[in-house]
Amino acid sequence: MHKSYGGMGFKDLSAFNLAMLGKQGWKFQMDTESLVSRIFKARYFPNNSYLTATIGHNPSYVWRSILPARFIVRGGARWSIGSGNYIPILAEPWLLNGESIPGDIAGASFVRNMSINSLMDPTTKRWNEHVVREVFSEDLAAKVLNTPLYEQVQHDKLIWKAEKSGRYSVRSAYKLCVTESHLHVTGYWLGIWKLKVPPKIKNLMWRMCRGCLPTRVRLLDKGVQGPTQCVSCDSNHEDLNHIFFECPSAVQVWNMAGLWQSIRQAMAASPSVIDSIFSLLQSLSVTQSQRLAALFWSIWKRRNNKVWEDVTDNCATVVERARSMTEEWKIANIPVVPDQTAVSAGSVTAAAAAVPAGSVSAQVRWQPPASGRLKCNIDAAFSAHRNRTGIGICLRDEEGVFVLAKTVSDDGVYPVDIGEALGLNIALQWVSDMQLDNIHFEVDSKTTKEAIYAGREDVSKLGNIITASRTLLFSKFVSSRVEFVRRQANAVAHTLAGEATFLASPLLILLYPVILKL
Ligand SMILES: [Zn+2]
Repeated sequence: MHKSYGGMGFKDLSAFNLAMLGKQGWKFQMDTESLVSRIFKARYFPNNSYLTATIGHNPSYVWRSILPARFIVRGGARWSIGSGNYIPILAEPWLLNGESIPGDIAGASFVRNMSINSLMDPTTKRWNEHVVREVFSEDLAAKVLNTPLYEQVQHDKLIWKAEKSGRYSVRSAYKLCVTESHLHVTGYWLGIWKLKVPPKIKNLMWRMCRGCLPTRVRLLDKGVQGPTQCVSCDSNHEDLNHIFFECPSAVQVWNMAGLWQSIRQAMAASPSVIDSIFSLLQSLSVTQSQRLAALFWSIWKRRNNKVWEDVTDNCATVVERARSMTEEWKIANIPVVPDQTAVSAGSVTAAAAAVPAGSVSAQVRWQPPASGRLKCNIDAAFSAHRNRTGIGICLRDEEGVFVLAKTVSDDGVYPVDIGEALGLNIALQWVSDMQLDNIHFEVDSKTTKEAIYAGREDVSKLGNIITASRTLLFSKFVSSRVEFVRRQANAVAHTLAGEATFLASPLLILLYPVILKL
């Protein structure tokens, strides 16, 4: 069984998005007078703050997106204590190192609506030790008393502890998010990445398997008060297992789609729902997996239609929605590779496509890899103006269908050889992290390709990168190789690398951007 970190790849994208959303959350905290902050406050947290808000009644799409990013804001924020008037005692990061006092401590009700100024001596700006020891356990009291108060600080202010400037940055938030070790979960993640479905469906599967789909039971676990009943049946426990496997309305869908037998077997043989999903992805055919994933998505959509719109979709609607979603995706992803059988006389593109492999023209067009393999194109770009080196990496399958892409950038303009060699190194690392093999890596730097196979020991900076790449290639891959192509056949990676010079953070791309013109 393939094992790889569930965080890899998707984690990058998810973390990046959360870091971006966290920025808005941070603004709610900091920029309380802005119109946007005032609107959200009035609607969702009139009596508390973004950091302590709940999802609320009939939340908007935007609020539902911003709220989950709170853990990042919380994780990176710390109060700088001025008067203490605006800092609630409970559940706010004001203790030393940004710790907070849990909202459910014994005696919490006494201090529920109080600010920390009530723990301070109003004249000397010191903790009122007597009060602090009276209110908290010995342990907590020590933490409070160890939290420094500075005379010079006059206003209560949240600061972003991950940046020296104290200001939120997407880059540091992203780092905070990817270094969260709990994001690493083992499982057959490759099965999700390989699915031939739209990215939003892969994303749903990923959230399901990471256990972060906001089912009612999960929301309650996270402290969000609300009902836990299933919206389709009498069950009082709406969790992942119920929505997708136990609920009679789901079983009906699976039966109609001809997948119920497989699901029942997988469930009987697996210790958890998530293991059942992984095991299904391993045992089902490509088409069946595609149907399974699209139905997960459609079932979740039915649930949300009911919760947010009070619309009830019947079973046939759920199955049909999944079917048409996969059909539409298939049409939009018709391979654009040269296909000998499609050649018709007189067509310019068909004529180009018909050029036999090996001729000069064939070499300057991107060619799909052999059957069962993936092609990984890599390129580097350099921007003196932005003082950045960008790396673009793109994976496509034997039909020329886009699989995944990634961009990485680094500050500074590297020498061309170093940039190209670094690109290959990053690609080898990324692809081996995903435990993929049978990869046809393509670079448009002859130097890089030749150096990899030259076997020379070279202790220069370039030599070190090449040696590291060679080690990766020969230790992590059994049947993968690195080849040289001309620039014209490497246009997609080239475009991505150029785009990367605009970005300060790595980005994983699940859906091919329009700029790629695949
Ligand atoms: Zn139900």
